[in-house]
Amino acid sequence: MTIEELLGHYGGILLDAYGVLVDARGPLPGAVELIAALIARDVPYAIVTNDASRSQTTYAARFAGYGMAIPAERVVTSGSLLPGFLRAHGLEGARTAVLGTDDSRAYITAGGAVPLPLTAGMEIDALAVCDDDGFPFLQGIELALSAVVRALDAGRAPVLVLPNPDLVYPKGDGELGFTAGAIALLIEAALDRRFPALRLTFARLGKPEPHLFAHAAGLLGVPPRRLVMIGDQLETDVAGARAAGIDAALLAGVSRWEHARAAGLEANTAALDADRPRRPFVAPAYLLQSIAP
Ligand SMILES: [Mg+2]
Repeated sequence: MTIEELLGHYGGILLDAYGVLVDARGPLPGAVELIAALIARDVPYAIVTNDASRSQTTYAARFAGYGMAIPAERVVTSGSLLPGFLRAHGLEGARTAVLGTDDSRAYITAGGAVPLPLTAGMEIDALAVCDDDGFPFLQGIELALSAVVRALDAGRAPVLVLPNPDLVYPKGDGELGFTAGAIALLIEAALDRRFPALRLTFARLGKPEPHLFAHAAGLLGVPPRRLVMIGDQLETDVAGARAAGIDAALLAGVSRWEHARAAGLEANTAALDADRPRRPFVAPAYLLQSIAP
């Protein structure tokens, strides 16, 4: 499958970042050439990532350092949905505990809310769990949980938002790390013990929710049915794209195609085939080499 054939099928491409374009060591094989080809052909494309620890500008600079001229506005991070979320929930001026990096806090500020330093006794109106990095892990989680419980005990209901629902990420050399989604599960479990009737959960913004995909489709001005998502995780990239009405191709890595059945994605792939019986899963040549049939 060549890029020309791919573009013949679709009006635009969405790409996951980690595991598709880059990994911890740098750009993946073929990624620089793919981005150059998309730019040269003026193809609508966007990067769609659950990362809420880096700003769009930080991402653009990182990509540029690898030889990929991707403008900041083409990088749709889960963090970039935070300003709109905060405004939609009337959280301008809200005192917000942020588990994340300086860039995570910048997303909060961009939405008009006020990120607070994590301190004992803090009073909050909202909690944003953005990343595992940028704060003392256990201490930060405990301060955030305590602040939420304190607010609820005082009769207030702080808004809980989770831009990045990922539980675990590969650290390299076979090691795994916990990230934002796992932190949110801890806090939800603790709140359920203390306030079972309230059924408190985080608002989840990133994949597999459809919000990032819808935002990217709007950004590109391409209808979802004319887009294809290329990702490396069935449970987020493929499931989320399909939920948003977008075709998806899997780059086998974290997920393998035989996991589709276990992930409950068989119906999605069957539906895709039924919709377009002559259209297989498609991906650029370098991706196709590692995509299972
Ligand atoms: Mg990925």
